[in-house]
Amino acid sequence: MTTGSLTVVGLGPGNPDQMSPEAAAAVTVAEDFFGYFPYIDRLNLRPDQRRHASDNREELARARTALEMAAGGGKVCVVSGGDPGVFAMAAAVCEAIDEGPALWREIDFSVVPGITAMLAVAAKAGAPLGHDFCAISLSNNLKPWDVIEKRLVAAATAGFVMAFYNPISKARPHQLGEAFDILRAHLPGTVPVIFGRAAGRPDEAIRIVPLAEATGDMADMATCVIVGTAETRLIERENRRPIVYSPRYFRGAGA
Ligand code: SAH
Repeated sequence: MTTGSLTVVGLGPGNPDQMSPEAAAAVTVAEDFFGYFPYIDRLNLRPDQRRHASDNREELARARTALEMAAGGGKVCVVSGGDPGVFAMAAAVCEAIDEGPALWREIDFSVVPGITAMLAVAAKAGAPLGHDFCAISLSNNLKPWDVIEKRLVAAATAGFVMAFYNPISKARPHQLGEAFDILRAHLPGTVPVIFGRAAGRPDEAIRIVPLAEATGDMADMATCVIVGTAETRLIERENRRPIVYSPRYFRGAGA
C-alpha cells in the first residue's frame, strides 16, 4: 500500500498577509483538512478539498484520524493558528506517531511554520522580546497548576520576559490573576504587561499596563499576555501608544 502525506501547517495569527507563501502552497496541494473549526473556516478551500473540522479539545483524536487517512494514501493537511509547533497540532501529531502503529512512521510528515501569537503581539508593542524570553501556556488541561506556578517563579527570578498563551478560559477564570499575584512577589510593580488580543484580526486590541495594575479580567482566550522584566522599558509618546522594548544588553536592574 502506498502511504500518503501529512503536513501540519501554521496559518499565522489571523491576518492573511501573515500566512507564509509556503503555508499557502501546502494548502493548495492537500486534499483533506483537519483542524479546529475557525482555522478551517479561514481557508479558501476548493469544492474538491474536504473539510474535517472538529472541536478544540479533540486534538489527539484529530491527529490519529488524520494519520489514518494519510496512512491510507491521502494528502492530508492539519492546520493550526499561529505556529503549529507552539502549543498546537504539530506536537499532538508527533505524540500520535510516537505511540501509533509502525506504518505511521512511513507517512511523508512535514511541518510548515507560522508566525506565532507572541511574535505578532510583540511586533505591535515594539520589541518586548528583544532580550531572553520564554513562552508558558497557563492552561492546566495537560499539566498541573503547581508546575505552572514553579515555572512562573523560575522565569521571573531568572529574568526572562514571559509570553503567556491560553491565559484564561471559562473553565479557568482565576489563573491569570493568580499568576500576576505570584509575579508581583518577584518583580517590580512597574514591569510592563502587554495584553495583545486577536493580533492581526479586525478586532485586534493592544493594552499596556504596569504589573501592579494587571488583572485577570484584562485578557480572554484570544489574548497573548507578555510580561516584561525589570529591564523592559517604555518609550512614552504623545497621542500614541508607548513603545515597549527589552534592551539586548543586561545591566542587572532587579531580576
Ligand atoms: N499555535 C498558536 C497558539 C495556540 S494556543 C500560535 O502559535 O499562536 C491558543 C492561544 O494562543 C490563545 O489562548 C492566545 O493566548 C494565543 N493566540 C492565538 N492567536 C492569537 C492572536 N491572534 N492574538 C493574540 N493571541 C493569540
